[in-house]
Amino acid sequence: MTEMYAIAIDVGSTYVRSGLINLKGEIVYSFKMPSKAVLSEGEIIALINAAVRKCAGAADNSVLGVGIGFPGIVENNIILGGVDNLPGFHNVDLGSLIAASTGLNVLVDNDANMMAWGELQFGAGKNCSDAVFLTVGAGIGGSAVINNKLYGGYRNKGMEFGHIVINFDGPACSCGGRGCFEAYASIKALIKDYARLTGNNISDLNGKIITRNYLAGETAAVEAMNLHFHYMAAGITSLINIFSPQKLIIGGGVSDSGNFYVQEINRRVAERAMPDTFSDSMIVCSQMGNESCLLGCASRVFSTPMLLQSNS
Ligand SMILES: [Zn+2]
Repeated sequence: MTEMYAIAIDVGSTYVRSGLINLKGEIVYSFKMPSKAVLSEGEIIALINAAVRKCAGAADNSVLGVGIGFPGIVENNIILGGVDNLPGFHNVDLGSLIAASTGLNVLVDNDANMMAWGELQFGAGKNCSDAVFLTVGAGIGGSAVINNKLYGGYRNKGMEFGHIVINFDGPACSCGGRGCFEAYASIKALIKDYARLTGNNISDLNGKIITRNYLAGETAAVEAMNLHFHYMAAGITSLINIFSPQKLIIGGGVSDSGNFYVQEINRRVAERAMPDTFSDSMIVCSQMGNESCLLGCASRVFSTPMLLQSNS
């Protein structure tokens, strides 16, 4: 029997990452295409179509289906909105559009949900029935698995962990509100703090430079990272008190910079979380990194019986 594959597409505002994944969860082929310069919704859709075709070609058309992780609110394969860093996408039936142009079965979900699925099946969330996922980058996204099911709120419009309000009168946030977790603890906020302390240009900085300088003991980097840890702990303490997850998994940003990162957050959360909510919880780093979304997309394709039947 020919080996069957899932095509996985991770749509981001910097890259569209694509991969071909076999039933063992191995990424056998992958590539990324820049999406930073795209100007319209149509161009993004064209990019996704091109990526799917390229993968299908590489799989010699032995494809069970396509899983797409998209950075917005998704209900029944339709992008309802909530897309911050890409143009358009209000009530766009992305699933049907890609299915019509490629002839393949397509599943679309929020990218943080797909990442959560990848970590649950193959990574740091293995064997967890209750887990919370945080992706820390330019913004902060997240998702939660409650009793083995992704929970998204009514019509998947909830789980906006980046917009937990830390200070109602705080700095303006990308969501239009003020003082959100994201406005204080994202990598964008960390870079802003470090630039303010050093006089450096924001465009010359990234999270890796700051963590490197922090580990070297540079005063400004230590001060900026202490602020970052402080606010990360504030948001995460709230999440632990609400969900009491077995694992709270942090991905993206600087979470892969070393054990010190989660250890420092763990230490601060342990001091402030309600003891009973934290007693069975662990704060850990994502194990799959950039691949968690692709693997989540694939595992969703493999675990959807409708797709398996229609291709058998
Ligand atoms: Zn906000």
